[in-house]
Amino acid sequence: MPKTYLLLGGNLGDRLSYLAQAREGLAKQVGGILRSSGIYETAAWGKTDQPAFLNQVLEMQTELQPAQLLQRINNLEQELGRVRLEHWGARVIDIDILFYEDIVLQSQRLTIPHPQLHLRRFTLLPLAELVPDRMHPVLGKTVAGLLAACPDALEVREIREGS
Ligand code: AMP
Repeated sequence: MPKTYLLLGGNLGDRLSYLAQAREGLAKQVGGILRSSGIYETAAWGKTDQPAFLNQVLEMQTELQPAQLLQRINNLEQELGRVRLEHWGARVIDIDILFYEDIVLQSQRLTIPHPQLHLRRFTLLPLAELVPDRMHPVLGKTVAGLLAACPDALEVREIREGS
């Protein structure tokens, strides 16, 4: 069954609870969660008046093709964000597709690998925890190599261990 790596992130409300709800929803609507990275906290980029983000990477198996996967993810983001959306005009949870097997895909709606993957420490650090030796199919570097070369200086610290 195909494997995919997803990045969860959120900076509003009960952040740990939203991550947990996202994992629950994904397990129901996408497939099995094989492994989870630790949970990492990062200061909001640029805007210092925003709460800090929590991020986590999941290794999942799924029968869904990439376009269907994106559809389910978008539905889940909306479902979880519905209440807060009305009050805050912001999303409580963001879910990105980092890798899907070794697929390279670029369409109007979806780019895989995720186009920002190699630029963000808060993505690379949890991803490297799970798959340091995985090769980026476009950049031709491993995740650990991308992390070592990443210019993003924001501090990312682990607040909870993975499983
Ligand atoms: P944002 O919420 O700003 O991360 O943007 C979400 C939109 O980005 C989605 O509706 C997708 O159409 C698009 N997108 C493109 N590539 C990806 C990807 N690899 N993972 C998730 N969303 C993506």
